[in-house]
Amino acid sequence: TEMYCGKNVLVLGLAKSGEAAALLLHELGAKVIVNDAKSYDENDQAKVLEKKGINVVCGEHPLSLLDQELECVVKNPGIPYHNPIVKEAVRRNIPVITEVELTSALSEADMIAITGSNGKTTTTTLIYEMLKNSAKNPLIAGNIGTVSCDVAKGATSDDLIVLEASSFQLLGTENFHPNVSVLLNLFDAHLDYHGTKEEYVAAKSKITANQTEDDVFVYNLDDPLVCQVAVKSKAAKLPFSTREIVSEGVYINQGSIYFKDQLIIPLSEVVLPGSHNVENILAAIGAAMTMGAKVTQIQHVLKTFSGVEHRLQFVKKINDRLFYNDSKATNILAAKKALEAFRQPVILLAGGLDRGNEFDDLASSLSNVKALVTFGETKEKLARTAKGAGIVEVEYADRVKDAVECAYRLSEEGDVILLSPACASWDQYKTFEERGNEFVAAVDKLK
Ligand code: ADP
Repeated sequence: TEMYCGKNVLVLGLAKSGEAAALLLHELGAKVIVNDAKSYDENDQAKVLEKKGINVVCGEHPLSLLDQELECVVKNPGIPYHNPIVKEAVRRNIPVITEVELTSALSEADMIAITGSNGKTTTTTLIYEMLKNSAKNPLIAGNIGTVSCDVAKGATSDDLIVLEASSFQLLGTENFHPNVSVLLNLFDAHLDYHGTKEEYVAAKSKITANQTEDDVFVYNLDDPLVCQVAVKSKAAKLPFSTREIVSEGVYINQGSIYFKDQLIIPLSEVVLPGSHNVENILAAIGAAMTMGAKVTQIQHVLKTFSGVEHRLQFVKKINDRLFYNDSKATNILAAKKALEAFRQPVILLAGGLDRGNEFDDLASSLSNVKALVTFGETKEKLARTAKGAGIVEVEYADRVKDAVECAYRLSEEGDVILLSPACASWDQYKTFEERGNEFVAAVDKLK
């Protein structure tokens, strides 16, 4: 932790992660300058940091900030690489990193890092739960829970950090080096940010790029792009598969889950719904067992854990209709997986931000959808896809709460009413959580 002492570091972007990074570096004795595009008056965090003696520049990104000798730039994952100051820093060969890089560099604790297009939060949570009551004390970091820098700050070698890492975060890493890394799947999401599929795969492959043979790479054998990454990894490989029996990995045989030929649990005892969650569970078992989880604890988690909020979360049963909140399904693959989880007739609530894509890939998963209620920027496109797939009942709604009322009117006993939007929420809601909460509130109001 000496490495930043006395050095100049520029922190770009003052969201939660920027604030945590700035404070941590300040405590380590670095000379921190924080720069944020938002004006000073709108910036409460700026005032907090200034009180601690950190230099804050607000309202613009002056390139002159790069003129002093900088150890590195810590960039918020939300700031794109084509931002002029980031571009200029790269041109001047100043290392541009993200907060997760700091986490890995500054902490003595072992680390499990989880990435993929879908399933990160669920898998991270599962691993964290499975590692309770083991030799090391698990700490969860990332999207849910605490910013990873804050977690790293307090961690000791008795702790084990379980970190969810997005591709935006991974892109800004050079020396990121988890003991166990997990790659769940690779799907064409976020192409608007990463440019090409190659760049997206490259960002995700950073999760294992610095691993050596003493480390472990847990990966999805059923995903061809993931396997391409595995070929290049130097870590010991731990594959998981829902289709093949892989004795050196985690797999299903005759309805039960095995880890390296050791029986873990029959699938019939697992509460989490959805075939996609079976993948997440296999990955979680691989990582947790590698780091010394107890089989009894893993069994306990799988028999009780019913899902993270907004991720195919069971909300309520009203007059024999089942309501599920999958607001976190912000892309087509996620919505497909949710639809595949049900045998009953489904009334689907979908729509949201238009990223310019079509929804043709969704069509093949609509076979038990009896009606679509659609909202947001993509409603015309989704209506077209649904009609093309032979769904007669297609209704438009203004907001999710209106869609709930409409779906309830259309429903019969035994139906599933599912919010799985296949789109991001930002056209109408601040976050997918806000969208999901509106769904749950509207369901609560039904009689
Ligand atoms: P992430 O953190 O990667 O966004 P989550 O665990 O929050 O993933 O799950 C988000 C949504 O993605 C879920 O609601 C579900 O619809 C879908 N999903 C979860 N796991 C998988 C998986 N392994 N493969 C495909 N889709 C998945």
